[in-house]
Amino acid sequence: MHIEPKPGRTFIGRFEAGQDLLAELNGFCKQNNIRLGVFNLIGAVRNAKLGYYDQEKKQYTGCVELNKKLEIAACMGNISIKDGEIMVHAHITLADMDGNAFGGHLMPGTEIFAAEFFIQELIGAELVRGKDGKTGLPLWQ
Ligand code: ZN
Repeated sequence: MHIEPKPGRTFIGRFEAGQDLLAELNGFCKQNNIRLGVFNLIGAVRNAKLGYYDQEKKQYTGCVELNKKLEIAACMGNISIKDGEIMVHAHITLADMDGNAFGGHLMPGTEIFAAEFFIQELIGAELVRGKDGKTGLPLWQ
């Protein structure tokens, strides 16, 4: 499935150190009523929590906890509707001082050191998440 929305507002800015990265993204989108969109973000974190979805068990397992200061080499995702609310889905790649990379599904518990974001709102259509039978994931219907 797919839709063909139009570009809406664009936002560029940064989030404050010490805040939770996923909570800041969700909060910003809710405050600005961004119901559909895409974003990217770079910066650094003081620690990170990443999810991994087990395709056999059909659930998030093995939450990766990284208790170190890391660069956000890339963080990207989308914004849509789940259970009637605005929901950010974000993936992140983090790099350590040796250039090693870690990645996964961004979970609550990732503390910002610095975070510069760009958000592109999309308008004229809506994507709503609902449980997908094949994957067990809340996918776009
Ligand atoms: Zn994900």
